[in-house]
Amino acid sequence: MDSHLLPAYARVDLAFERGEGVWLTATNGDRYLDFASGVAVNALGHSHPHVVEAITEQAKRVMHVSNLYRIPEGERLAKRLCALSFADVVFFANSGAEAMEGVIKIVRKYQSANGHPERYRILTFEGSFHGRTLATLAAAKNKKHLDGFGPIMDGFDQAPMGDIEAVKRAIGPETAGILIEPVQGEGGVRVVPPSFAKALRALCDERGLLLAFDEVQTGIGRLGEMFGYQKLGVTPDVMGLAKGLGAGFPIGACLATAEAAKGMTPGTHGSTFGGNPLAMAAGNAVLDVVTKRGFMEHVREMALLFKQRLAEIKDRHPSVIAEVRGEGLLIGLKCQGPNGELIDALRAEKLLAVGAGDNVARLVPPLIVTDAEISDAVARLDRACAAIERNRQEPRKQGAAE
Ligand SMILES: *Cc1c(COP(=O)(O)O)cnc(C)c1O
Repeated sequence: MDSHLLPAYARVDLAFERGEGVWLTATNGDRYLDFASGVAVNALGHSHPHVVEAITEQAKRVMHVSNLYRIPEGERLAKRLCALSFADVVFFANSGAEAMEGVIKIVRKYQSANGHPERYRILTFEGSFHGRTLATLAAAKNKKHLDGFGPIMDGFDQAPMGDIEAVKRAIGPETAGILIEPVQGEGGVRVVPPSFAKALRALCDERGLLLAFDEVQTGIGRLGEMFGYQKLGVTPDVMGLAKGLGAGFPIGACLATAEAAKGMTPGTHGSTFGGNPLAMAAGNAVLDVVTKRGFMEHVREMALLFKQRLAEIKDRHPSVIAEVRGEGLLIGLKCQGPNGELIDALRAEKLLAVGAGDNVARLVPPLIVTDAEISDAVARLDRACAAIERNRQEPRKQGAAE
């Protein structure tokens, strides 16, 4: 493998040369059913014709101009995102971590603009993930990610997810807001109970705190609603989006109410690339598709079907799968053995999945997945589980056959 890339990833020796819909073709010609979606990014699958056309046409006109000028495509995308959500204003960035940096800054600035500059601390949850920048790492407090990178940025406290009494204890006079993912994706597909989210909302209202959602993974239909907060029945004040919003084109966005964003005046934040016409064309094209009548119903139908079929597989292979969890098309298989064992066995069956914390294998198919593709994936999962069971019974024979 190429040795000139910083070895920050433990990559699989596999490369793809093209994709179409839910399918990826490797450089050796093998076809894979892609239920990893570039880590929940390719919401519309690969090479979606409408997105490809929008990007191509925009690239021919103008790709980048900077935020020194008005960007009509961005004004349009912001207006559409606000019409679809609780938000009044949008800031565009280029990634999930950047979106979350913006969210953190908006929360702090709100308190400062409100006469409470001493309120700068944000409460986050154990097992969360918010990105790999220094602030977002400090927010998630994952020791593995922070080790060796110097002093941890101040301003974040943490409580166990689901424990409202612990949250109350962790809130102090310096607390500015609470930040949570509607479903912890990287943390192991851990679903936030709606009652807990409602209790957080009530607590924020009572104490003058902002409620911020990290919807980088859950937003844009992943849970069967446009945004995860709609699934929870709780409205945040600020929210970060990224992954599915560009469906493969890098985009991040912070959405906020006008009240929450009132401190964000000219000069308070910025990005050279954020919101450039090419990215905005991609985002608008994605919204064209996901807002079509019936799209979310399709996601919900596929999610229900997939979950039912996965429950059957779990019953057939209890020594491999301990639990099926998740919401919508963000599904986790908690493994009995190491999750890498299942992910490798799935890849041998030409089904792509992605790991998550808590020993979970994540299945995050494109939202355009069909019932036939789900059946195909379930058959591959069945065979992969059977292969693991055989391998455990006769490890030597299996090894000799390879
Ligand atoms: C992926 C992810 C991020 C980070 O996004 P990047 O684009 O990798 O910076 C942040 N929060 C959540 C919930 C994510 O799933």
